[in-house]
Amino acid sequence: MSIQRTLALIKPDAVKAGHVGAILGAIEKNEFRIVAMKLVHLTKKQAEGFYAVHRGKNFFTPLTDFMSAGPIVAMVLEREEAILKWREVMGATDPAKAAEGSLRRTFGTSIQYNATHGSDAPETAAFETRYFFDELEIC
Ligand code: GDP
Repeated sequence: MSIQRTLALIKPDAVKAGHVGAILGAIEKNEFRIVAMKLVHLTKKQAEGFYAVHRGKNFFTPLTDFMSAGPIVAMVLEREEAILKWREVMGATDPAKAAEGSLRRTFGTSIQYNATHGSDAPETAAFETRYFFDELEIC
């Protein structure tokens, strides 16, 4: 077991629907330490840069339109096995297939509008954390 950091986002659908408080509550209940946090409204270009790995896929344009449509909450979360644990708390990408009680099952409404994001590996966590935060913004 090792202490890790992961990049977590509360996506525009969940911010707009007023689920920020509930999602922050789940983060604290699951013993993550929030080491950085801010509200950001991505431009279309910034959303494309964040999801560059999906460029060329059929959902790239709707996904980046969605992610730049309104403010998001960006956070760096720290705990033991943070990357895997946060993905467990979020649930599967498609809310319909996510475990009962998971954030995506509770707050997501479709495979695209799935409420939250989490890094999927140490390398992506490092890239995604740097995408949103400077070293000085992480406590
Ligand atoms: P994640 O790591 O669980 O977020 O999943 P992916 O990296 O595969 O996809 C990134 C994001 O793209 C997802 O969280 C969804 O918001 C969106 N997405 C993934 N698959 C689809 C799809 O088949 N259709 C649409 N419209 N959006 C998708």
